[in-house]
Amino acid sequence: MKFVSVVQELMLINGKRAASASSEFFSIENPAEKGSVIAEVPRASAEDVDIAVKAADEAFKFWREVPSRERGKLLWKIADAVEAQGEEIARTIATETGNAIRTQARGEVKSVIEIFRYFAGVASEIKGSTCPVDNNLMAYTQREPYGVIGAIVPWNAPVQLSSLKIAPAVASGNTIVLKAAEDAPLGVLKLAKICAEYLPPGVVNVITGFGQECGEALTSHPLVKKITFTGSTAVGKTIMHKGADRIIPVSLELGGKSPQIVFPDANTDKVVDGIISAMRFARQGQSCSAGTRLYLHNSIFDSLVEKLANKLGELKVGNPLDEESDMGSIINKKQFDKVCGFIEEGINDENVELLIGGLPAEEGPLSQGYYLQPTLFACKNGNTRLAKEEIFGPVLMIMPWEDEDEVIQAVNNSSYGLAAYVWTNDTTTVLRTASKIESGWIQVNRGGAQMPGLSYGGYKQSGIGREFSLEGMLDSYTQIKSIMIDF
Ligand code: NAD
Repeated sequence: MKFVSVVQELMLINGKRAASASSEFFSIENPAEKGSVIAEVPRASAEDVDIAVKAADEAFKFWREVPSRERGKLLWKIADAVEAQGEEIARTIATETGNAIRTQARGEVKSVIEIFRYFAGVASEIKGSTCPVDNNLMAYTQREPYGVIGAIVPWNAPVQLSSLKIAPAVASGNTIVLKAAEDAPLGVLKLAKICAEYLPPGVVNVITGFGQECGEALTSHPLVKKITFTGSTAVGKTIMHKGADRIIPVSLELGGKSPQIVFPDANTDKVVDGIISAMRFARQGQSCSAGTRLYLHNSIFDSLVEKLANKLGELKVGNPLDEESDMGSIINKKQFDKVCGFIEEGINDENVELLIGGLPAEEGPLSQGYYLQPTLFACKNGNTRLAKEEIFGPVLMIMPWEDEDEVIQAVNNSSYGLAAYVWTNDTTTVLRTASKIESGWIQVNRGGAQMPGLSYGGYKQSGIGREFSLEGMLDSYTQIKSIMIDF
């Protein structure tokens, strides 16, 4: 194991930087350089969770009384500070996640700034309503925060996904204890430091550690009044059981196997760029909304596959900090081995054809990190695990279609329903397909990212609840109280 200037970063509990009660640390590695340790962070236990949750519970008593527009002003200051430190945060994200700085990490920081500004603005939109009743009766509702929010996030866009919990939770008067992902806590700890500068102690607490230790302790703590989780569907199910044990609400942003449907009129270079963007190759395909099932109409199949293969061949896979790199490395060995397992399965499956990419070279500079090339497979009938399961790597499965009803049926024949992409210029086709696809987010002729203001979240096993929007904030972080007054 290579140690390269290892620093010990600390958690944020009750406004102070904190080690764990046991003083144990664990290593954070740079996935672009196998075995190199870039920092150590505290290994939080149930004891640390208890300290953090109690601090958040204490802070809730006064934070809920702070006027929402004042809370919004503080969030705006956090956004400004993130902007000022943007490049440093982007470099941290690139180093710990393997995501390329130019095509991904800087964009993540930009999104963090937009998220904080958006929720700063809508903080004062937390309103109730009045209800028409009898003459001598008045009835109205008000929205109130829950209290301590327990939040858990994954590693693939760690600071953005943490901001999507912290900003709306705090804007609506809750306090929060957030557990960062064990592979990528460093950018989140930088954000935590900024939050500590502007928010009173205990309002935002960030802990680091393992899911089955401090994660479970957080989801079972009696003072946590609501759980918000982003991660895999499998862990989401266990977390929902935890919520059921205490009858507390749970929001889940989970996995996906999102389809892209290309109609005959969409055989252009611009569409090819859009497909690549929707597939999230810039994040090595490690995105919940990656469009990993590509359905191409028979009439354009060969021509579009050729264009796609040519474009993907131009992408440069390399060091995430290199400005030339379009793609960086996979997050860790476990994920790398999992993706390679899928690729091997595709190569050995008679029903599946490898078009480009494949298993990584065992020698050469890229073998120093967990790098994989963009990989395209084709399969006539979609009858393969590669077309059904979330791979979370740069692997795209292409399938032909002829009949619109059949392709919609194939698209919907999935336990997931997070995102979908439709490529056509025909307006009636757009309207018809958009209403038939079972997904929480449908993009037509666009492969870009989510944007604050528009709800994002899954149908089916891709999740429960919405993020990114005012509605999402109100539904996830406030509860309605109805008040009736008889005069
Ligand atoms: P994961 O479910 O393994 O881990 C996510 C987080 O949960 C980590 O912080 C982990 O420590 C914690 N955790 C694990 N077990 C736990 C337990 N028993 N109790 C409490 N916490 C526990 O997911 P991952 O591999 O880190 O991330 C990839 C997954 O996240 C993919 O499935 C992806 O689709 C999904 N994701 C979804 C969205 C979305 O918005 N829908 C966004 C990003 C990622």
